Amino acid sequence: MARTLDAKCRICRRAGTKLFLRGERCFTPKCAIVRRNYPPGVQGAKKARPRLTTFGIQLRDKQKCRQLYRISETQMENYFSKALSQKGDTGVLMQQLLEERLDNTVYRLGWARSRDEARQIVGHGFIRVNNKKVSIPSYQVKVGDSISLTQGSEQNKHFTDLIPALEQQKLPSWLTASKGVFEGKIVGVPQGDDLLSPFDMKLIVEFYSR
Ligand code: SF4
Repeated sequence: MARTLDAKCRICRRAGTKLFLRGERCFTPKCAIVRRNYPPGVQGAKKARPRLTTFGIQLRDKQKCRQLYRISETQMENYFSKALSQKGDTGVLMQQLLEERLDNTVYRLGWARSRDEARQIVGHGFIRVNNKKVSIPSYQVKVGDSISLTQGSEQNKHFTDLIPALEQQKLPSWLTASKGVFEGKIVGVPQGDDLLSPFDMKLIVEFYSR
């Protein structure tokens, strides 16, 4: 994807909220939003955040969502079109599609510390879906799919280091995994608390419906 080259913490500071782009650091007092919750730049601390128009608020939330899932504008538009073509609440459907991306699923399972890391893990061919290697981060998982590592990947240091954390991993309701093992299953669709986020999908739908 065409990704912004901005430092990740600057993206959060501009958005004014945690987007969890840097793995473990995001959960520590070192997080830039904890230490400097004002916009980046020399004047950032002195100037109040500007009052936004309705369009500005919609745009801000759309950007938060795009940055959180680490996707391009074109991909966002495609998810919106796909959600719009289905029956139901477009905002919920769109967020479900985003959650069901393979890279996000790997992140939610706790096999990566951030979505960027999850994208790399998938792209480098470490992940199997229903026992077949899949290296497309945007691949959509569906109910019944099993997610595992390719043969031999369990020995990779990245994964062995994660085993203690996996024991504590709190999974969303749509995923199950055996404790401490790299075997996951999609058991439902993301809903309710699974879709809690620092942006409002209604505003994002309004943005794309202009
Ligand atoms: Fe940086 Fe993570 Fe905090 Fe965002 S949430 S400011 S990426 S440490």
